[in-house]
Amino acid sequence: MRLFADWHVHTRYSDGRGTPEEMVAAAARRGLREVAITDHGPRGMFIGVRDAGVYRELKAQAARLSRRYAVRVLVGAEANVISLRGELDVPAELIPELDVLAAGLHPQVWCRPWWRTLTWILPNRLGKTWGWLRERMRQVNTMALVAAVQNNPLTFITHPDLVMAVDLDRVARACAATGCAMEINTGHHYDRDAVVQAALRRGAPLVVNSDAHLPASVGALDVGARLLDKYRVPPEQVLNAIRPG
Ligand SMILES: [Zn+2]
Ligand SMILES: [Zn+2]
Repeated sequence: MRLFADWHVHTRYSDGRGTPEEMVAAAARRGLREVAITDHGPRGMFIGVRDAGVYRELKAQAARLSRRYAVRVLVGAEANVISLRGELDVPAELIPELDVLAAGLHPQVWCRPWWRTLTWILPNRLGKTWGWLRERMRQVNTMALVAAVQNNPLTFITHPDLVMAVDLDRVARACAATGCAMEINTGHHYDRDAVVQAALRRGAPLVVNSDAHLPASVGALDVGARLLDKYRVPPEQVLNAIRPG
């Protein structure tokens, strides 16, 4: 399957290594029609944008870069899910200004209320050692991610079931109901087949992104494109697929 966009890249405004211009230039070299800069939300521990105003700064740069590189530059956020009710760390008033709203579960985040960091994020980290805790946390993570899908106008969820385990079938059901896509993230090694299988079972949209933190990784989507071919996913189900005809 051929893809026209990479809607998940990070810059120096969060934990990426490239400037916005370097990332956009890389997208142009790859022949992409669109790229979205989606830096981490402000509550990511040590890596989030310093405040939500950064997204407005990026929007101002994006218009200039779109003209210079003939690539449509979108500005979005990779928001953190920060509570079990699915709240995001990007302020609600900013959301209508963003071109792309992504959200994901991350094990380095300051929760709301703060003590939730101890009762949710910490046990997820300990669950790597203790299987029973992992299963308990899988249920909690699923509840939080499903609530985020139901309560926010998300374009897609980032890398579902990476590090913080979820029940992909329940997540896919929520995504199918709202039109939020499930990401096939080519920048991390995890069970991407299971994501595609759950999306196909439940009819959830998919999207393939690089999660590039370096210019060289922008648009490196081949692993995801091959996976879509392997499962014969129809292009209509993939947000960034080039539709035939
Ligand atoms: Zn992420
Ligand atoms: Zn990311």
